[in-house]
Amino acid sequence: MGSIPSEGTKAGCTPAFLFQLGVSMKNIFFTALMLMLLVSCGVGKQSRMVAHRGYWQTEGSHENSISSLKNAIALGVYGSECDVRQTADGVLVLFHNAKLDDGRVVSDMKYAELADYRLPNGERIPTFEEALVAMGDAPRKFKLVIEVKEADVSKIVAMVERYNLEKKVEYIAFGRSHCMDLIAMNKGLRVSYLAGNEKSAWTPKELKEKGFYGLDYSAGLLKSRPEWIKEAHDLGLDVNVWTVNDSVDIDRFFKQGVDKVTTDIPAVYKKKR
Ligand code: MG
Repeated sequence: MGSIPSEGTKAGCTPAFLFQLGVSMKNIFFTALMLMLLVSCGVGKQSRMVAHRGYWQTEGSHENSISSLKNAIALGVYGSECDVRQTADGVLVLFHNAKLDDGRVVSDMKYAELADYRLPNGERIPTFEEALVAMGDAPRKFKLVIEVKEADVSKIVAMVERYNLEKKVEYIAFGRSHCMDLIAMNKGLRVSYLAGNEKSAWTPKELKEKGFYGLDYSAGLLKSRPEWIKEAHDLGLDVNVWTVNDSVDIDRFFKQGVDKVTTDIPAVYKKKR
């Protein structure tokens, strides 16, 4: 026969329940404490470093190569920047300078001629398509930051779409017409404007009005106009600074609130940011 519970032994108020409740509260407190510690140590927080032309300062790699992109992916940073040009017969390739070391102009060459050229580490100059294929192995959050040097932007965007990488790319360019052409596509592309000095820069307000995603300005420019960081954020713009290879400067820019830093030394800061 069951007995009628007295007032003090009602369901929910038994000593066993109170003990369990205490244990649960302790667990919640302990879990919260551990999460706070992990966050303060930067664990679980995505690195905000962008590897400039890939992570190429490793044995056997070179800037704007497939190995440098793969290294950046393996490093686990925010993303990898690359420079895109177009050959005379319309092939998109990754290369920084307008000319090869032997003086030939990339945009005047057919891809077949370029294919024989070797980077100092022995790799071929990669096609943009090969870089997109390599991006297939990248984590969801990893971004390919595409700097449009001299190329047909619609061709670049079409190829990104062909590989379903729309959410894994951002676009940057010094060329105002390249930027405006990308924005005019009305596809919601993340386009940031590159500038190295005040003369060539647009203010955050101008960028917002023109439909930019953000600004990507040199360290020197943001040092002379630090107020643009807050102005940009107040307008909902992303702020990236390049190319910062001094640890003191990197720390200073993060303290000032920039979102990302493009650097040649992504491995150094990967653990910190
Ligand atoms: Mg670049």
